[in-house]
Amino acid sequence: MRTSRYFLPTLREASNEAETVSHQLMLRAGLIRKQASGIYTYLPLGYKILKKVENIIRDEMDESGCLEILGPAIQPAELWHESQRWNEFGDEMFRLKDRHDRDFCLGPTHEEIFTDIVRNNLKSYKNLPMTLYQVQTKYRDERRPRFGVMRSREFIMKDGYSFDLSEDGLDSSYQIMFNAYKRILERLDLKYQIVDADSGNMGGSHSHEFMVISEVGEDDIIYCSNCGYSANIEKAISQTMGSQSEKNTKDLKEVVTPDVSSIDDVASFLEVELGNIVKSMVYVAHGKTYVVLVKGNHQINEVKLKKILNTTDLEPADGLQIKAINSELGFTGPIYLQGATIICDKEVEKMKNFVVGGNKKDTHLINCNIGRDFTPNITADIRSVNEGELCASCNSPLSKSKGIEVGHIFKLGNKYSKNLKATVLNKEGKEVPLLMGCYGIGVNRLLAAVIEQNHDENGIIWPKALAPFQVSIIPVNTKKEEQNKLAEDLYSKLKIKYDVMLDDRKERVGVKFKDHELIGVPVQIVVGKNALENKVEIKYRDNKEKSLIDVEEVVETLD
Ligand code: ATP
Ligand code: MG
Ligand code: MG
Ligand code: MG
Repeated sequence: MRTSRYFLPTLREASNEAETVSHQLMLRAGLIRKQASGIYTYLPLGYKILKKVENIIRDEMDESGCLEILGPAIQPAELWHESQRWNEFGDEMFRLKDRHDRDFCLGPTHEEIFTDIVRNNLKSYKNLPMTLYQVQTKYRDERRPRFGVMRSREFIMKDGYSFDLSEDGLDSSYQIMFNAYKRILERLDLKYQIVDADSGNMGGSHSHEFMVISEVGEDDIIYCSNCGYSANIEKAISQTMGSQSEKNTKDLKEVVTPDVSSIDDVASFLEVELGNIVKSMVYVAHGKTYVVLVKGNHQINEVKLKKILNTTDLEPADGLQIKAINSELGFTGPIYLQGATIICDKEVEKMKNFVVGGNKKDTHLINCNIGRDFTPNITADIRSVNEGELCASCNSPLSKSKGIEVGHIFKLGNKYSKNLKATVLNKEGKEVPLLMGCYGIGVNRLLAAVIEQNHDENGIIWPKALAPFQVSIIPVNTKKEEQNKLAEDLYSKLKIKYDVMLDDRKERVGVKFKDHELIGVPVQIVVGKNALENKVEIKYRDNKEKSLIDVEEVVETLD
């Protein structure tokens, strides 16, 4: 490729709204351009690298025996009604109507589509196990698009879905994906942690997140380098509602929180807007009390609420039956909820001090509205883990860091197959629901995460697997015939074997050097004065080493 024929609009500076290094560098290196909030165009260089990320993922999926399909980006509402997620998904879903007034959405995820394909086309256990995947554009109307392509409203995800007959089968399909995700991140040279994760509104029973370690990560993770225990805050909090009190005690210790001194802090830490909270509840179990904030405007019944809060098998605690709590809190009928967030635990006695209901202080627990009816002092009640505290499993010091969630895998069980009636005939000829897993990894987000971990003050330092060009050839003075000739000769020779960029622009050499450093080409061959003696300078992007070599030695040196 000749730079003169390329579309490389590099910039000295990025716009002020680019808060993270990866966002700044992607703009400056001419990888992307913004079209609207959270919506980007990839320019040739950016798209080239994006496809490399995509192909590494594809490669590992194919290697794991998965089959690639391509679902539609636009999805009919009917399927989402069947899975009962049309309302549950809330404002994050882009919705539209066709000319016949039928409802559709731009797919934020594809469980429904894949389940539908399989239920209509796969009939026997003999076809199992099967894992299908796609590399597809997803649409999510994020509340706060930011960090460039890291949290955008249109992005590319590789999402895969496994179908199995038995729990053991699901475990093994899940493990295969778990290992494939590790290989993907290793091929990209990323430093990462895998954390046990909350399954959120996906309704699964088991899930892991793949977190790239980075200061700009939006998740707090804790991990033990000794025994490998790791968790993120969401999981640690949601597990406090789990069924084993032993586990609760352990995970409660590991809830990581920032400094919280007011309900506004709690809300911002949980990324909920107080204005959205339509209900707050107090929940008692296992001798602990939980404050639950409920936001959004979607209908949910008691059974569903229990499921979301993972409370189906709670034991009566402190003499309070779960039913009694429910009726006392007044949500035996339908209530409205989009997501429930448990924000703290506290012993019942202490709790009474700050819980009120209606407009009257210190009276009851029904319909109390945090902020309007009371301002709890929560600081003392959320436990936190600090770097160096001891791991509950092995007593070694814990590490804490920020992580970018790049991948997320779930065991879904029969959640979708039950609702969508996706069954197969088993060996005995009996119809049974399929057991599913789902596996997502963000292509664009991965690209940005790689930049976060690999850059210096001059620009991007691509790992080998992603470098847009392997070598660039830079003639220092294009007015000198011998330099041009040598550069052209080298270019013809090298391009047979390598992906080469020849910077034939009539620009000052300083500008060229800056551009090639910025876009992160791993090796620069500089053709200058020494061209007369058939010598060129070779420079490496990562360690800044330079040496003068004979032209004949170039190929050998590059190998
Ligand atoms: P987040 O917690 O960051 O909002 P998520 O948990 O909603 O992500 P999943 O539904 O688990 O995301 O999707 C799988 C993967 O898709 C994520 O791990 C991430 O890599 C990618 N992804 C999700 N949302 C976005 C987005 N808005 N922009 C870019 N990539 C995204
Ligand atoms: Mg999200
Ligand atoms: Mg997440
Ligand atoms: Mg996720």
